Formats: sequence, C-alpha cells, structure tokens
Amino acid sequence: MDALSPFSFRLLAADGGARAGRLATAHGEVATPAFMPVGTQATVKAVTPEDLRACGAEILLCNTYHLYLRPGHELIRELGGLHRFMHWDGPILTDSGGFQVFSLSSLRRIDEEGVRFRSHLDGSAHALTPEKSMEIQAALGSDVAMVLDECPPLPSSREEVEEAVRRTTAWAARSLEAYRGPGVPFGIVQGGTYADLRERSARDLMTLGFPGYAIGGVSVGEPPEAIATVARTTAALLPEDRPRYLMGVGRPQDLVEAVAGGCDLFDCVMPTRNARNGALFTSEGRINIKREQYRRDERPLDPACSCETCRHYSRAYLRHLYVSNEILASRLHTVHNLAYYLGLMSRMREAIAEGRFEAWRHVFHAKGTAPESEG
Ligand SMILES: [Zn+2]
Repeated sequence: MDALSPFSFRLLAADGGARAGRLATAHGEVATPAFMPVGTQATVKAVTPEDLRACGAEILLCNTYHLYLRPGHELIRELGGLHRFMHWDGPILTDSGGFQVFSLSSLRRIDEEGVRFRSHLDGSAHALTPEKSMEIQAALGSDVAMVLDECPPLPSSREEVEEAVRRTTAWAARSLEAYRGPGVPFGIVQGGTYADLRERSARDLMTLGFPGYAIGGVSVGEPPEAIATVARTTAALLPEDRPRYLMGVGRPQDLVEAVAGGCDLFDCVMPTRNARNGALFTSEGRINIKREQYRRDERPLDPACSCETCRHYSRAYLRHLYVSNEILASRLHTVHNLAYYLGLMSRMREAIAEGRFEAWRHVFHAKGTAPESEG
C-alpha cells in the first residue's frame, strides 16, 4: 500500500450499532453508510455519470472480470484509467473478479494458485490469481481494490467452508504483498453461517492488517434473517476505525438491518436491474409499472421523491414507455430507483447523526416494506 495514499475513514457518529462516517479517497469523499450503484461494464446501465451525481451517488462499483475480458485492463490503463475512460471522477471500488468467474464462466478449476476459467464471451482460457486480480485493479486505477477470495456456494459443508476460509486468508496475504495500485486493498471475511469460522477469518485478516474489511459470502440464497445475523456478528468482530463493506446486499430492508448491525458500504444490482424490469421502489411500497391500474394514473411514481423522474413524469407516461418497450423507460426508472436507494442511505445517515436511528428504523419497518399499496 502506498504510504501517501489519501485513503482514510473517520467515524462521525454512532447510534446503537449503527455508524455514520466519512471515507476519503484520492477521488473525493463518501458519506457512510453508502450505497454503491453497480457499473458492471464501466457503466451503470441506462444512466450517465451526471444522472448518478443527481441521484446522490458518491462512489461506484465496477466489475473486474468484465473489464479484464472486455475491453481489457491494459487498454483502460492506456486510455488514462477507469475514471477517465468512463467519465466518473468520484471514487470507484472494483471487485476481485472471483465472484463473476464463479457465476458466469465455464470450466473453472480452483486450486491453491488461483482459478482457471474460460471466458463467457469467447471461450478463451484465463487464469485469475490473487496477484493477477491486484494487477488488473491497479491498472484500472480503482480507489478500493478487493482481494480475490473463495466464496463457497450454499449449501457447503463445514469442511468446505473451513477450507475456503484458509484459502481466503492465504490469498489475502498474497494480495496485500502484490498490490501496487493507487488505492487501497480491502480484505474479505468468509466463513458462511459458522460463527467460529467467521471469527477465525476476521482474526486472520486483521492480523494481516487491511485499510478496510468486507463481509463476503452473504446473499447467496440464505434467508434474510441469516444475512442480518452474519452482518451484525461479523461487523462486531472488525476494528471500529475501519470501513466495513457488506457485499451484494440487497433489498432496502436488508440494508436497514445491516446498517443497524454496523455495516458502512453496500452494493447490489437490485435497484438498477429491477428498474429495467419495471419494478420500482417507492416510499409507499413496490410498484410494478406495467399493471393496468397505472394506465390513467397522473400521479408521480413516488409523491415523496424529488428525482428527475418523479418531478416531470406521471405513472401513466412511465407505464406507456415501459409497455411500448421505449428505452427511455430504463433510464427514467433507473434514475428513480437509485434516487430511492441513495435517499434511503441519506435518511439513515441523518437519523444516526441525530441519535434517532432506532425510532427511524421502527417506522421504516412498519411502513417501508409494505406490499404494493394499491389493489
Ligand atoms: Zn423518484
């Protein structure tokens, strides 16, 4: 890690287990708890960086696996790095590529060295090692680089999870040693739903010493209560003065519970993917815009939202765009869903700062997760 890296994390307020803080990077600051929109292929689908800023985004996540295969990390480096390439001047976190190797590629083989796989694009053969992942993320110029880890599928035996924890620690040590990028590497705690293995994994990584820690291996199909429990108990194992990133979670109610449990950073494709499918989050519950009931509905999508979509367009118009397969539907829906998620984080930060998070959380669960309100 570069000793001159401007990376820092400062805790500003705590309320019960929930914390509000500030993450500083070479590309600006991020108020936490923060949600990172997912920009898989160096783009958050359907929206521009200007849209993202207007929605309140301060940090993005991009996927190493996709960018490595296409257009290639060397090309992105030649073109001035990922920030310049995609015209986003704020902080960027990149994942290690491991998760996509496991979910998208074929013929993968994992051993102590790393993982060998074939591209889902053209079948070409590749090897991803801890060192290679760090090299790719350094070439991209990520502010936060995630170490390669082994995320065992659900269900896995205790022996399999234990082996994944051991390998994740070994790979984390190699990653830390290899990292030569402009940002900082984060370690990833594994251990599935085994409390003692989570503890071992956290202890191993803290011995190595990372500027930040992620909680991995969640949101792989387990029930919401299990996610909340793992988030809370693992967060409690991690140092107070380092950011905690809960990977791949999730629904608004899951984010609220994870914030209550002491997590600071989040990412999920849910708001953007759902948006493109016409599934919209509102302060009154979820809306499926294609339903007939919205055909003559002149109200905004969410009367409590002040995003571009809610300021200018009616539910009737959005429904028309969606059922007509107009591409503007994807943009307007994505803008709204991101504004909803980012607004939710902003309200949580305020409630924590003002010492009323528990009351806010109670009200949120009483009405925020209500099913679609109208018929
Ligand atoms: Zn809106």
